[in-house]
Amino acid sequence: MDELFAPWRIEWVRRSSRTDDGCPFCRLPAAGDDEEALIVARSERSYVLLNNAPYNPGHVMIIPSRHVTDVRSLSDEEILDRERLVQRTIDAIDNAMEPDGFNTGANLGGAGGGSIPHLHTHVVPRWQGDTNFMAVLDDTKVIVQALEDSYEELLQSFAEQPDTSRCETGAVRVSSD
Ligand SMILES: [Zn+2]
Repeated sequence: MDELFAPWRIEWVRRSSRTDDGCPFCRLPAAGDDEEALIVARSERSYVLLNNAPYNPGHVMIIPSRHVTDVRSLSDEEILDRERLVQRTIDAIDNAMEPDGFNTGANLGGAGGGSIPHLHTHVVPRWQGDTNFMAVLDDTKVIVQALEDSYEELLQSFAEQPDTSRCETGAVRVSSD
């Protein structure tokens, strides 16, 4: 099954090709416009990026700010920061979208389905009756909610959490304490 409706893919390809060929997960948080980049929240050592080819509305990735390609290279501080941001993210999605469950996980290496070597943890909200998580790996799903809507919903939900502020770049700043 091919993806039937994904206009943002075109935008993504265009954006990627007109800038450098470096790592997108290093480049996007440095670009200075979090809404354009689809970065919805930042912690001290990690950030939350909407997947531009989402499996479901609210599909995001938790990404260490440092260019790390393997979980074994993360420092203790980065591990704690990342896992706390995963907790915050699940909370934000729960409050905004009320899913029935979640999938979280990482695809390591090309054979594991990882398309970008910079480490990233998927968080995918699930509803009763949607299809299998394996579709994430094949990018096969009809998307029913525009990315901009998901972004706005999650931004508001993060902003309602305690110990948050707003970054100059636009994302919600989440304290990891
Ligand atoms: Zn990187």
